[in-house]
Amino acid sequence: MTGNNSQAFSTLSLKPALLENLATLGYDEMTPIQAQSLPAILSGQDVIAQGQTGSGKTAAFGLGILNKLDVKRFRIQTLVLCPTRELADQVAKEIRRLARSIHNIKVLTICGGMPLGPQIGSLEHGAHIVVGTPGRIDEHLRKGTLKLENVSTLVLDEADRMLDMGFQDALDAITDQIPAERQTLLLSATFPSQIQKIAERVMRDPVVVEAESTHSGSSIAQHFYRVESEKERFKALRLLLLDKAPASGVVFCNTKRETQDLANELQAFGFSAQAIHGDLDQKERDRTLLQFANQSVVLLVATDVAARGLDIEKVDLVVNYQLARDSEVHVHRIGRTGRAGNKGTAATLFADNEKFKIERIEEYLKQKVEIHPLPNEKVLFRDPEPAPMRTLQIDGGKKQKVRPGDILGALTRDGALDGKEVGKIQLQDIRAFVAVSRPKAKLALSVLTQGKMKGRQFKARILK
Ligand code: AMP
Repeated sequence: MTGNNSQAFSTLSLKPALLENLATLGYDEMTPIQAQSLPAILSGQDVIAQGQTGSGKTAAFGLGILNKLDVKRFRIQTLVLCPTRELADQVAKEIRRLARSIHNIKVLTICGGMPLGPQIGSLEHGAHIVVGTPGRIDEHLRKGTLKLENVSTLVLDEADRMLDMGFQDALDAITDQIPAERQTLLLSATFPSQIQKIAERVMRDPVVVEAESTHSGSSIAQHFYRVESEKERFKALRLLLLDKAPASGVVFCNTKRETQDLANELQAFGFSAQAIHGDLDQKERDRTLLQFANQSVVLLVATDVAARGLDIEKVDLVVNYQLARDSEVHVHRIGRTGRAGNKGTAATLFADNEKFKIERIEEYLKQKVEIHPLPNEKVLFRDPEPAPMRTLQIDGGKKQKVRPGDILGALTRDGALDGKEVGKIQLQDIRAFVAVSRPKAKLALSVLTQGKMKGRQFKARILK
């Protein structure tokens, strides 16, 4: 906040009991996200805040909730939605800590993967604040065991992750049940376009608070590498990929043929790579993109046409294996990295006969490009990093009434997998796809095929 350097909680209009408790918790100063968001939160505005775990985001919205809560009114006044049970438990714990000085505040967690019966009982007893996961909250709404008609604050915590886990439909169903006259707070580590869409639907004139500025030209490091000859180009690419070991990357070629050849060659050297080009049928294309988006494939080898319009977020390396035909396309390619505050690198390979293109790019960007030496060849002894996740295909989808919460519930039941080991869940009409951490793929497969969802067994397999 400009013009106000004080980061003390006492500068806020917080209830004295909350302030006193903050001192006993040892919260002496506000964290940046708290300093930026609390004034707007306390004034009742809708707020979108970028905040990762560890930023103090929970206290930012927790204090907002508690400051306006009317303890004497024993109704559910606040709903906090979280992607996983672990996070919901943490959030509930932090809210209870912040509320220590206010007597008789009841905070209830309602999460998937837990038996329904006791939850119904707890809901009958009532609460002020409910913290839960979207699938289970939606289930209680349908059963009529939860009513949200008195909710005046809705918090969507880790909204990006909730969307990644396929909770879009559940979120829509839940927000429909909450009075429009409310305050909505949305927390997210990243801001993909779906978050903006959700914000437009469920929020009113939100104040946007960003701990770090989002994508600007300077967050992309552009590195240029000279290759001696065409023969050296592939080796140069291997050197870069082994040295940088990106969690996800896009490698651009200029023709369809080249993308397929290059993807094959990368696979032969042990890289997790798939080509995407106009000759693939829709199903192959969707599957490749799905596996790339859920981190089951590390590298996408693409033509400009194939990559056009793709919503590729969080790519940390873009490689121009071949220089783009013109400078504008070049800038468009590298704009795919470094989004939403993520640091990205763009590496461009060029041969001597392409120097004129580099000069054009310099003119276009109005800056001299830096030419870097290639990494030391020692890295060739390393093994490529495998993709962190694997994708399971389940032969049941929306038609079979399978919901993301069912899949998450089946996988985490009896502690088979931890919520953190489950990635994106995507539901189609008769299929579902779920990403799980690579070492747990086989276990996840047996849990899914041996256990039941919606009272029946489904076939599943691990995608290659
Ligand atoms: P969170 O990002 O919400 O997961 O919070 C990270 C940790 O920081 C939690 O353990 C909080 O208890 C703690 N915390 C939150 N706000 C403050 C603060 N203003 N001063 C000190 N610790 C804090």
